[in-house]
Amino acid sequence: MTDCLFCKIIAGEIPCDKVYEDEEIFAFRDIDPQAPTHILVLPKRHIPSLASLETDDSAIMGRLAIVSSHIATDLGLSEGGYRWVVNCGSDACQTVPHIHLHLLGGRALGWPPG
Ligand code: 5GP
Ligand code: ZN
Repeated sequence: MTDCLFCKIIAGEIPCDKVYEDEEIFAFRDIDPQAPTHILVLPKRHIPSLASLETDDSAIMGRLAIVSSHIATDLGLSEGGYRWVVNCGSDACQTVPHIHLHLLGGRALGWPPG
């Protein structure tokens, strides 16, 4: 999608601090980190949000989870723990309408979230 910020980052039109890429998944550091480690992990294919998932998306969402787990382990987060967040829609403060998983770790995280 030409006017999507994250599609432009994936295409290399906007720079980012990339931590992982394969044929389907892309991951980079959040520009405004909320924890010592704050990575955004997303499918390259433009899917707007959790609310727009369809049955055919099960494989890509499964890969998103597995890749995110491996990134967390590679970055040394597995022992101390970490959190995944996927914001959906305005009540959850989703600001970029290209589905993405926030991987947060490196400090004790409070609960409940805001
Ligand atoms: P959301 O609020 O949609 O769940 O998360 C969007 C995230 O994208 C935010 O945490 C925000 O800091 C991050 N973000 C927005 N613009 C950019 C950008 O240009 N580069 C990077 N690396 N992160 C961005
Ligand atoms: Zn997009």
